[in-house]
Amino acid sequence: MKRIAIIGGGISGLSAAFTLEEKRQSGAPIEYVLFESAPRLGGVLVTDHVEGCLVEAGPDSFITEKPWATDLCRKIGLGDQLIGSNDADRKTYILVRNKLVVMPDGLMFMVPTKILPTVFSPLFSLRTKIRMATEWFHPPRKASADETVAEMVERHYGAEMVDRLADPLLSGIYGGEASQLSVRAVLPRFADMEAKYGSLGRAMLAAHRKMATANMPPRPLFTSLREGMQQMVDALVARLDVNALRTSAPVESVIPQHNGWTVSAGYQSDHFDALIVATPARAASAVLQLADENLARELGEIPYSSSVTVALGYDETVRRSLPPGFGFLVPRSEGRRLLAATFVHNKFPHRAPENRALLRCFLGGESVEQFLNASDEQVLRIVREELQQILGLTADPLFVRIYRWRAAMAQYSVGHLERLERIEALLQKLPGLALAGNGFSGIGVPDCVRSGTEAATKVISGMGMWSAA
Ligand SMILES: Cc1cc2nc3c(=O)[nH]c(=O)nc-3n(C[C@H](O)[C@H](O)[C@H](O)COP(=O)(O)OP(=O)(O)OC[C@H]3O[C@@H](n4cnc5c(N)ncnc54)[C@H](O)[C@@H]3O)c2cc1C
Repeated sequence: MKRIAIIGGGISGLSAAFTLEEKRQSGAPIEYVLFESAPRLGGVLVTDHVEGCLVEAGPDSFITEKPWATDLCRKIGLGDQLIGSNDADRKTYILVRNKLVVMPDGLMFMVPTKILPTVFSPLFSLRTKIRMATEWFHPPRKASADETVAEMVERHYGAEMVDRLADPLLSGIYGGEASQLSVRAVLPRFADMEAKYGSLGRAMLAAHRKMATANMPPRPLFTSLREGMQQMVDALVARLDVNALRTSAPVESVIPQHNGWTVSAGYQSDHFDALIVATPARAASAVLQLADENLARELGEIPYSSSVTVALGYDETVRRSLPPGFGFLVPRSEGRRLLAATFVHNKFPHRAPENRALLRCFLGGESVEQFLNASDEQVLRIVREELQQILGLTADPLFVRIYRWRAAMAQYSVGHLERLERIEALLQKLPGLALAGNGFSGIGVPDCVRSGTEAATKVISGMGMWSAA
């Protein structure tokens, strides 16, 4: 019997455990133990139910285009629980000089593909509109080195595009800044499109046409679960071997020993044949310090950002007074503390009863430390001030929930892919070890599912036990 340890019980670790469980049930001679430092499993996937509203503390959905989370949900019996975002009401605003300006139709991520809505949009100055028109003639360019998203977008559309769109969109996903994030790691498609077409606009349009001719049925942009993201955690846990799950069990260190790994958690040390570390990269660095200090250093240098999410429930008067659409993003140049807010009752209507409005606000960026350390009263005061100034919202919320996420989102800065190569080379010298989690090749839930699954596949293959069956 081969023994495998998994460290970290977020969606990455649970996906790895599920892959091992499937293998075990198909007769492979393996057993696994999952160590999770917190008292609960799921990591940042947490759903609360408050006064008839479904409140997501961490992720509220995942992008439909990436199949791995949807595929896993189907496998664990949640196929009929998958729901799409209410794209008929999809409309996102950008705060410009304290006014909400709707993002024009035809923007694919930040790339304009429709002329008229962009020409008439007050979101961009004439100068940026002229840049958009000339971008169409951008020559193909094979990048010789990595660069930041801000640098690439600025080359194509100018600085205003970075401030009004690229930066707010990326801070909504990564909690990070376009001027720090690597194009190759975060938007590899953009680098490919530039190399092939030159113009991002022409490349996006070509991709759009290809999809239209392939007669692909329209899909919602985001997918989630009827009862929230926690449903995914619960369904996974229900399919795992209950004796294999150790919560409130922080792993302190791992050491390669006797053709395997010794894992130390609390006063106990246990021997395993293989190991999957599925924690945030900084925690992985601490755990692997004694195993390989070079690997630990590389992992520890992957930057992470923190954020605070604040859910506020209101009555139907407020619901009627709020603008339609999914919510708004706030460019850094507005000098606000709020990064974004989602109108949950529009994005996923059944998550709030018809007589309730549910807002989810994001705080992050440079001032995030202040919010992480502030009292709930202080955080709420700031959020309410911002909502009053942006939306004119003065009503008292019916309920509030505040969630603090310290160093939870990896930031793929310039040079991230080279770092991954160095990590991969170091892993070659540590047989039986696989890494998973949001620190490596995608921070969204689908990529984390993929990373956990691939890590499990890697350790089983290393034992000569993998077959696709
Ligand atoms: C506020 C927020 C909103 C987000 N929104 C979205 C979204 O809408 N859509 C989307 O796709 N993605 C979103 N993401 C990103 C996505 O949710 C995460 O990247 C993903 O869930 C991370 O999963 P994970 O298992 O890799 O890490 P985590 O969920 O962080 O789990 C890691 C686990 O490891 C445990 N651990 C750490 N150290 C040890 C140790 N020494 N021993 C044992 N256990 C340890 C931790 O306690 C934790 O439970 C969001 C993230 C945040 C924080």
